[in-house]
This record gives sequence, structure tokens and C-alpha cells, in this order.
Amino acid sequence: MVRAIPYGRQDITDQDIAAVNEVLKSDYLTQGPAVDNFEAAFAEYTGARYAVAVSNGTAALHLCAMALKVVPGQKVITTPITFSASANAIEYCQGEVVFADIDPQTYLIDLQAVKALLASEPKGTYHGLVLVDMTGRAVNLEAFRQLANEYGLWIIEDACHAPGGFFENSQGEKELCGNGRYADVAIFSFHPVKHIASGEGGMITTNDEEIYEKLIRLRTHGITRDSSLFRNTSEFASGGQEVVRGNWPDWYMEMVDLGYNYRLSDIHAALGLSQLQRADDGLSRRRYLATRYNEAFAGKSYVKRQSGKIEGHAYHLYILELEDRIGLYNHLRSLKIYAQIHYIPVHLMPYYRQKGWSEGDLPIAEDYYRHCLSIPMYPTLKDEEQDFVIRSIDEYYSD
Ligand SMILES: *Cc1c(COP(=O)(O)O)cnc(C)c1O
Repeated sequence: MVRAIPYGRQDITDQDIAAVNEVLKSDYLTQGPAVDNFEAAFAEYTGARYAVAVSNGTAALHLCAMALKVVPGQKVITTPITFSASANAIEYCQGEVVFADIDPQTYLIDLQAVKALLASEPKGTYHGLVLVDMTGRAVNLEAFRQLANEYGLWIIEDACHAPGGFFENSQGEKELCGNGRYADVAIFSFHPVKHIASGEGGMITTNDEEIYEKLIRLRTHGITRDSSLFRNTSEFASGGQEVVRGNWPDWYMEMVDLGYNYRLSDIHAALGLSQLQRADDGLSRRRYLATRYNEAFAGKSYVKRQSGKIEGHAYHLYILELEDRIGLYNHLRSLKIYAQIHYIPVHLMPYYRQKGWSEGDLPIAEDYYRHCLSIPMYPTLKDEEQDFVIRSIDEYYSD
């Protein structure tokens, strides 16, 4: 074997490097025209009306929780099988995270489990849903929207695993992840292990103009230059100039919300935009590799895979469920194949245990965790390397 095979890896081309170099020679380093271009291209890619670039996926989640007005004590439902950031964003606003179990076929939050939770409490107990397109498989947002409307809930779609992924609606039409039709907001990450790498970076998509305006402000300290939002009226505030409404001095701005500095730099945005241009090729390659894995593991008695109708899968991860997956993990490591486990259930993290969650609360998620292993999946994985991965797994179980 020549090179180590991780479970995921970024792909940086000369074109990407040239795009970043261009920015370094321009007038802008932090948020500037490259961010505008990245946002416009990303909105088009997902089919959403608006896109807001932010410093990372976690910041995106935090701003969404704020824009949807999560306040202390509000209950929000999410899945335990995700990266902890999906839940943490609610905690940042002092909301209360309630985990619902997963569907063992899809690894996504189970619609029936969410229904049961909602039905078990008076209406108004729960305020929102954070739904995760786990592994790159799109949540059926049409079904969840119906439920959300019944209970007056908002929806955040955590689509970090799924740019380019889609589900089929009841009319048989493709619904792209993050297209804004069913979820109030969707969020993406450009961490190097995700489909599109910008170093650090994130994006929010939405079709809601009011939420969009709010996100734009919260990203930059809650500051606005939109005079229709100004609240000061005194001559003092405007620096001693006489203020005629709608005719404020150019330099004037107001901080109207408590926001953050969650801006993305133009350096990152240029890299992200350059990568976005190749996103469809990467996605096709992921789907091709997944088909090869599916064929290789079909009928193998030692393995269970995600099942059901999986058209539209974006394959951020390819997961097998196995007996003795730790033994296999170590065996693969000895061959420089670095598999990974996604995820340790969030409700069993010490932070959430201290809030009262414990083993046995979510049996399907916990059973999944005992067996799951993410094997290498990234566009630059060569066919021969994938064959080596498949052979190595097969050999481990046939010895
Ligand atoms: C990566 C990821 C995040 C967080 O994104 P960052 O850019 O690393 O902050 C959130 N949710 C999911 C499901 C992720 O995979």
C-alpha cells in the first residue's frame, strides 16, 4: 500500500489555489465580493431563495436558533445520531434538547418517534425540530412539515452531510436538500471532510425574507445600515448633524440586536466557490463508489447496510453495521485504512447525561452505535484503493 486511506478527505486543485491567490491580491480579505458570489452560487445550487455564508456550520446552527427565537426552557426535538453541534445550538440559547430515536433502516430521526413525543405532551410544549440528513440521506421534509404545521413547530434542516442530496415528494418531484420549501432554514458546513471544503465555513439557506434579514444582521454584531430599522432619533446619535429621516450620514449605523462576528472571509469563500463548481462531479463519484460498495457487500452475512429507497443519497458517509466492528477497525488501521465511527450518540455524551439522559433511553440509536463503522468515502478514492478496502474487510470476516 502506498498511501493511507482515511474515511474522508478533501480535494484541492490548482484551480482552487488560483481562486484563493486571486483574493489575496485583491482589496478584500474578510467578507467582500467573493462571499456575495459564493452565496449567490450556493442559493442557485440548492434552489433556495437566500443564502447566508458564515464562519462554520456550528455558527450557522447558532444563528438559526437565534433567528427562530429559541428562548430559555423551550423544548426542541432532534436526533441522537448526529454531530453534537446539531443539538448544542439549542443549548446555546438555553433551550432544552429532547432526543427522539432513529429509524433502524435509514439512521434518520424516526417520524413515528417524533409523533409519539409530540402526542405525549400538551400542544405548545415543543417549539421546533432539528432534522439531520445523516450520512447524506435526505430526511422526508414533506412528512415532517405536515407534522410541524399541526403542532406549530419550526424546522431547522441540518444538511451538512447532504449538499446535492434530495428526496422525492408525494408528487414524485425531486426536493433538493436545503431548497427552503419545507424547512424554515437549512445549514451546511464546509469543513474539509464535507463535500465542499473551504477550510472552515458554513452556509444557511432559507426562503423566508424576514429570517434572511435577521441572519444577515446577527452574523455581523446585530449591526444594520438599513435606515428603516433605525431607532435613534436624537441629533446626538447622528453625530450632531440634523437628521432628516431616511437621510442619515453615510457612516451611520445602529446595533439593533445582540449579534456575533460569524462572518466568512473572502479567502474561504473563494475556495468554497471554486469547490462548488466541481460539487456535482464529486457527488457522482461518491454515488459511483457507493454502488460499488453496495454490490461488493450484497449478500455478505457479516454486514448490514442502510436500506430502503436510497435514490438521491449524497453519500457523505458510507456506513456498515457489523459484529465485532472494533476488531475490524483495528485490523483496518494496521493496513493504514482509517475507518471511523459516526456517531457516539449525543444523548450519552457527559454533557447531556448530566441533564438526565442515560443508556437505554434510545435503544435503536444505541444498538446502531454498537455496530456502525464508516468506511472510506471521498471522490479521490481510487477504484483500486476501494477494492483493497473491500478485500481487507472480507478477509477479516472470512478468517
Ligand atoms: C460538520 C457538522 C456540523 C458542524 O459543522 P462545522 O463547520 O464543523 O461547525 C454540524 N452538523 C453536522 C451533521 C455535521 O456533520
